[in-house]
Amino acid sequence: MKPAPFELHACRSLPEAIALLAAGDGMAKAAGGTQSLGPMLNLRLAQPAQLVDVSRVEALRGFALQGETLRIGAGVTHARIEDGQLPEITRGLLPAVAGGIAYRAVRNRGTLGGSLAHADPAADWVSTMTLLDATLVLLGPVGERRLRAGAFFLGPFTTALREDELLVAIEIRRFSPRARWAYRKACRKPGEFAQAIAAVWTDSTHGSARVVLGALGGMPHVIEGQGALELLRTDAGLERALDDAGLVEAYERQLHATMLRRALADLDASE
Ligand SMILES: Cc1cc2nc3c(=O)[nH]c(=O)nc-3n(C[C@H](O)[C@H](O)[C@H](O)COP(=O)(O)OP(=O)(O)OC[C@H]3O[C@@H](n4cnc5c(N)ncnc54)[C@H](O)[C@@H]3O)c2cc1C
Repeated sequence: MKPAPFELHACRSLPEAIALLAAGDGMAKAAGGTQSLGPMLNLRLAQPAQLVDVSRVEALRGFALQGETLRIGAGVTHARIEDGQLPEITRGLLPAVAGGIAYRAVRNRGTLGGSLAHADPAADWVSTMTLLDATLVLLGPVGERRLRAGAFFLGPFTTALREDELLVAIEIRRFSPRARWAYRKACRKPGEFAQAIAAVWTDSTHGSARVVLGALGGMPHVIEGQGALELLRTDAGLERALDDAGLVEAYERQLHATMLRRALADLDASE
């Protein structure tokens, strides 16, 4: 199938893009790398009257380390993160996740912001930014809003973004030297979306821990605290977590349990 007709606006600035989205009255849609939007247009699952292409907006393509916080422009591609072009503040987590997304042709065009705005529950950045408790910066005609990842994702393919807003940046905090992480996903074949994701982050400086189960029917399931993490090492604790994540099918439970056990083993091995 071919897309329904639309007007294409190749924007060069944020004010121009925001003005076009606001004028579109709900019929204008931002376009990043078009890796998800393209197929949706072709299948006519999305039929915007106007496409607001933000892929050439410089303000979305930069990044800056401000004290202990890294601000990443929403238009930064997976490939640039994979290639280590950003300051390394996550002890290798971001490049490792980026390098596991799809294949290089998709990573060359697909963007961090596009992936988060698309909010596919199986997307790697959705689980990762939830794990990192990242702050998402939204810009609209009335100004900026800042939301934690947990508040940004409202459900599968549903976010708190308003029709006239752009996701402009993602902010993450620098890992302490004692922070550790593990990230595991199960895919049918390399380059495919995950069927199960388990991500773990701990920081013994503060005794903090967070575990994310992703690629669920809904948005990622978060488990917080060192005690809760230790419970996951027991059969009963693991089964309880799978229940809480809404996993019913034996095959899906098995996949998620295996990813979680492997992630915990990776975490222990990284000590
Ligand atoms: C073959 C294939 C395999 C893939 N495998 C994986 C995988 O294994 N893991 C994974 O995580 N992803 C995977 N993806 C998805 C890929 O990561 C996309 O890059 C990503 O989902 C969307 O990014 P994009 O920049 O292309 O956004 P687009 O496709 O341009 O847009 C997606 C959505 O986000 C909106 N949007 C885009 N930018 C903004 C913005 N700045 N502000 C507000 N809204 C915005 C658009 O309006 C649209 O609704 C795969 C894609 C393909 C085609």
